[in-house]
Amino acid sequence: MLRITDLHGRQAVDFLCYNAEDKLERYHAPNSMKAAGSIFLTTGHVLYSDIARPIFTIIEDQFGGHDTIGGCCSTPSNRMLYGVENCPGCRENFLTALACDGLGRRDIVPNVSFFMRVPADRDGGAAIALGVSPPGCQVALRAEMDALAVISNCPQINNPCNGYNPTPIRVQIED
Ligand SMILES: [Zn+2]
Repeated sequence: MLRITDLHGRQAVDFLCYNAEDKLERYHAPNSMKAAGSIFLTTGHVLYSDIARPIFTIIEDQFGGHDTIGGCCSTPSNRMLYGVENCPGCRENFLTALACDGLGRRDIVPNVSFFMRVPADRDGGAAIALGVSPPGCQVALRAEMDALAVISNCPQINNPCNGYNPTPIRVQIED
């Protein structure tokens, strides 16, 4: 079981996962949203792989619905959206972490962003919303297979997902 705590609140946590035995099998946002019947993932929802097998199940959620359409921030997307140079993000954190397991750019897929919301309106409009998770807010995941989880504590300061102030998180592995 993996428990993530947003210690100070308003902190997005970007998350990728893979089958540890066969890393070609990895998180698949569309399968997960279709199975959930929602764009917001919460308790009871499953993080499915590209071949529609459960990698993790959300067994506890004090937030109430995590985003999986917005994807991760990055140096290129920060340039595209905000006109800032040399402003690394979750994608660069993912690349650093994935390199430990011999993985790289080809292995980054659209991810889950815990404690982040990208609400969509009736006309299809959607934008990253101000982070609203309270201090100490937790989400807990049960591994459904031997899994590799890759986490980026989002360093974004150009949009409101972290309240423009990234803060620490705690990650615990429990039996
Ligand atoms: Zn980010």
